[in-house]
Amino acid sequence: MQLFDVYPLQNITPVRGEGAWVWDDQGHKYLDLYGGHAVISIGHSHPHYQQRLQEQLELLGFYSNSVHFPKQKELASTLGRLAGKTEYQLFLCNSGAEANENALKLASFHTKRRKLIAFRGGFHGRTSLAVAVTDNPSLSAPVNQTADVLFLPFNDLEALENAFQQQGAETAAVIVEGIQGVGGIHEASIPFLQRLRSLCDAYQTVFIADSVQCGYGRSGQFFAHDWAGISADIYTTAKGMGNGFPMAGVWIAPSIKPRHGMLGSTFGGNPLACAAGLAVAEVIESENLLENSTHIGNYLLDSLRKLLGPSSVRGRGLMIGIEVPAELGKLRERLLNEHRIFTGEAKPNVIRLLPPLTLQASEVDYFLHHFSKLL
Ligand code: PLP
Repeated sequence: MQLFDVYPLQNITPVRGEGAWVWDDQGHKYLDLYGGHAVISIGHSHPHYQQRLQEQLELLGFYSNSVHFPKQKELASTLGRLAGKTEYQLFLCNSGAEANENALKLASFHTKRRKLIAFRGGFHGRTSLAVAVTDNPSLSAPVNQTADVLFLPFNDLEALENAFQQQGAETAAVIVEGIQGVGGIHEASIPFLQRLRSLCDAYQTVFIADSVQCGYGRSGQFFAHDWAGISADIYTTAKGMGNGFPMAGVWIAPSIKPRHGMLGSTFGGNPLACAAGLAVAEVIESENLLENSTHIGNYLLDSLRKLLGPSSVRGRGLMIGIEVPAELGKLRERLLNEHRIFTGEAKPNVIRLLPPLTLQASEVDYFLHHFSKLL
């Protein structure tokens, strides 16, 4: 059997990683400013992560959600404390799309409404509801086109007011990234998030903060939405949550009540995922990775702005977008092929930097040295 060919591949075979670096099967070393697509939060092969997973594997690899598993509660309380959300409830699942699918479904259960609001440039995943609120029709099959979704321009307060006036009372949820990732690193403005919060309150619409990419400390705050000083009714997290172990979370405000059977997942919150999630949370705390994101992120942002001009560089913390001039369209490939530096992209011409939150100033200097040579 062959693999179903859906991914365009770089001709590289990574076999080992350490911190912000990976090695390929030829022994070449690469700086990983892509973090395996914003997934590697605490660095590759972190010793504490390895230890937590090994210990769990030796004890019990899996049992279902029909029995007690205290590490789930430990994970929920650790995350609640770190994020300042101790009163929230955590539902564990396996991927970003699944977290958003459950969040949207939960909002509809809670409000008994069926309309949704999403934003231009937003990406929320590829399952049915998640893809329906994603602004990319090419990802949506005819069978996905059933949800009642209104797309609004991002950061447009007037469009927001009008939409709520027209259909706020029938809208179950609004879903918004704090910083759009796939859309090209665009921050939700603070007034926009604050107004969205007050409109959701006025119309009792559920505010879903998709934090799958911008969450977990990447922006320098636990959630990128925290920059606006607001609380969402539901947060969704995945990617960096397990540092590569597939896991995701739906963080649910206390006003939304559970009932048995409402949500479910065979693998969600399994012992190995909880061990991975706890290791990540513990390293984020013990190594002050939120501070590191802010500090190293500011250094990288400032240096890039000096190099390219302020209007070409966007983002917060270690979630950075570089608008590449059309004549330098091959910059990302050249960084990889000539200088062995992994970066991400957002079409048509943005380089996305999503490195481990453990990134060091010397690694930023290494990147800046090679990047400025290419410019
Ligand atoms: N939400 C956002 C903001 C994302 O960036 C992504 C993936 O890139 C997803 C959801 C979907 O996550 P997953 O690929 O784990 O389903």
